[in-house]
Amino acid sequence: SRGNEYSALPEWKRQSMSGGLGKPSTGTISIKEQRASLPIYKLREELIRSVRDNQILVVIGETGSGKTTQMTQYLAEAGFASKGVIGCTQPRRVAAISVAKRVAEEFGCSVGQEVGYCIRFEDKTTPDTCIKYMTDGMLLREALLDPQLVKYSIIMLDEAHERNLHTDVLFGLLKKVCQRRSDLKLIVTSATLDAEKFSTYFFNCPIFTIPGRTFLVEIFYTKEPESDYLNAALITVMQIHLTEPSGDILLFLTGQEEIDTACQILFERMKQLGNNVPELRILPIYSALPSEVQSQIFEPAPPGSRKVVVGTNIAETSITIDGIFYVVDPGFVKQNCYNAKTGVDSLMVVPISKAAARQRAGRAGRTGPGKCYRLYTENSFENEMLAGSVPEIQRTNLGNTVLTLKAMGINDLLGFDFMDPPPPQTLISAMEQLYALGALDDEGLLTRLGRKMAEFPLEPQMSKTLIASVDLQCSDEVLTIVSMLSIQTIFYRPREKQAQADQKKAKFFQPEGDHLTLLASFQAWKNSNYSNAWCYDNFIQARSMKRVLEVRKQLLTIMDRYKLDVVSCGKNYTLIRKAICSGYFAHACRKDPQEGYHTLVENQPVYIHPGSSLFQKNPEWVLYHTLVMTTKEYMREIMTIEPKWLCELAPNFYRGVDPNKMSKRKRAEKIEPLFNKYADKDEWRISKRKKMK
Ligand code: ADP
Ligand code: MG
Repeated sequence: SRGNEYSALPEWKRQSMSGGLGKPSTGTISIKEQRASLPIYKLREELIRSVRDNQILVVIGETGSGKTTQMTQYLAEAGFASKGVIGCTQPRRVAAISVAKRVAEEFGCSVGQEVGYCIRFEDKTTPDTCIKYMTDGMLLREALLDPQLVKYSIIMLDEAHERNLHTDVLFGLLKKVCQRRSDLKLIVTSATLDAEKFSTYFFNCPIFTIPGRTFLVEIFYTKEPESDYLNAALITVMQIHLTEPSGDILLFLTGQEEIDTACQILFERMKQLGNNVPELRILPIYSALPSEVQSQIFEPAPPGSRKVVVGTNIAETSITIDGIFYVVDPGFVKQNCYNAKTGVDSLMVVPISKAAARQRAGRAGRTGPGKCYRLYTENSFENEMLAGSVPEIQRTNLGNTVLTLKAMGINDLLGFDFMDPPPPQTLISAMEQLYALGALDDEGLLTRLGRKMAEFPLEPQMSKTLIASVDLQCSDEVLTIVSMLSIQTIFYRPREKQAQADQKKAKFFQPEGDHLTLLASFQAWKNSNYSNAWCYDNFIQARSMKRVLEVRKQLLTIMDRYKLDVVSCGKNYTLIRKAICSGYFAHACRKDPQEGYHTLVENQPVYIHPGSSLFQKNPEWVLYHTLVMTTKEYMREIMTIEPKWLCELAPNFYRGVDPNKMSKRKRAEKIEPLFNKYADKDEWRISKRKKMK
């Protein structure tokens, strides 16, 4: 029966006999030859000249043409590095690391020497570093301390087409810096053809095009919409592997959990086929993956075998994997979605845009003619998908961005030169949020608390929690909880051992909820003397815990710098809960007499995630850390609270309001003065002079 399912097995065998799979191993050509073979190579001199002659340059070129890895090196070789660091931003951590490693190898140094990278909580640079890859968020933080970015001679805003939140803010900031610093060069690179827009925005700067070499990609659609895209995707991968000629496969999924599951199922299905079929190397790629594992995706599959890379949209443009001939595209992506009206942020799986679909398909046509299997109908591509992705700045909570800009002294946010301004309501609701947290005053100006909050590379609620914990004398414990929450997953839950893993996890459960469960797990690990074996026994990811420790150390440095005391409260969990409540009060929920919970702010129905320590305990009042939208809106990481804390800890938000009775209208009234102030820019200017009551 399995033979029928993959009926073209004999054809596969013929393929295998006629010389095996995979294109000639790239391992045999030297790095020098590889560099010289890239499309950008022939344009080296022209490119250097263009950078010399222009302050700002937009560069477009297909993914894989060499923009990210080569341009920085060309410019360093041309002498720009002697005038300052050549910085290159990446929207994703994984890309920053992987590219820095590759370039260090090409450059002939170890990472952190001449070529380094800097991501949140990890700085791999030295004073010798002249080519620095970093996340756009890190450059934004640097701009906070050094608004003119004086140490840089060139800044390359890479992957500009991604329209990441931080990149969009950097556009506006760097445009200003360029006006003040004539010696700074700015390069904006994009893999797509929206270059005109970038050029127009950046004073009509020239556009440098790297001619692409792409091959035809044949597109296949499904006849009917797929109800189970994951299964459909895995069947497609198997069919390609068993029936199609040589060439690697790239499958786009939405996130870590899904990717891990897919890899496991695929592995089991391949195992069932036994030794009669060629080997399929299954390689996951997502940001939380340790970098040694990540780098495996670049290794060519051994002759006679094929590799399938299963990744998030990181493989869309951020990193280039050679040898991909087949792309399987279910058409979904996980995105941050923010509803400014309700103030609710959540992660959601949404359909990709047409532009993203084309980009994904393009991955199959780099080395030769390829095929792309779209697991959606042609009709939904034509009529349902958006033309382009909505820039993140228009669909995310801007709390952190507003805080950062305010801390840079940029007060007129509605007048900030955004390429695509966020909806005013989103800016206003970010300001409301910061006002409620005490980071902004009635005038909309940064408070001392707000300034301290801006120092931490954390979301505002988190930095508020941390700072509040100092006064509440529980900062030692809160520091741990904040670090644990900053790492995506601590608990390991393999498919075949779920029950066992859940049992182990339950041992750490605390009646007060998940935040304290995280604390208890960390403390138990600490008591084991940070043992890997302990992690293994308890289904906890040792690697994640090491990162927690690293994050904790980094935050501790910031706390020391600002003389914020680190004190332990022992087992006085009430203090810890209060500290968290003073940051996350807006996430308070009350049990619904019928089923689930309701958020206090918008009365929205929400449910406790089955993985929570409070699942089926159903305390009356809780607050959540994040909301994840799957079949329902699930609260992840929940903690019990006392309702009276809300008025006590968030007077700007809940003052004089009985949380039992709070209505949306009441809240609107409290915030109305602020709203009006920002709704009209002129009025805002007046109110700056005249204190408003
Ligand atoms: P672009 O930025 O234009 O998309 P890159 O500079 O990232 O292109 O990549 C150029 C080429 O360098 C790729 O086609 C690939 O062959 C090679 N390359 C990039 N990163 C790695 C890596 N980590 N390992 C091996 N080869 C790599
Ligand atoms: Mg690139």
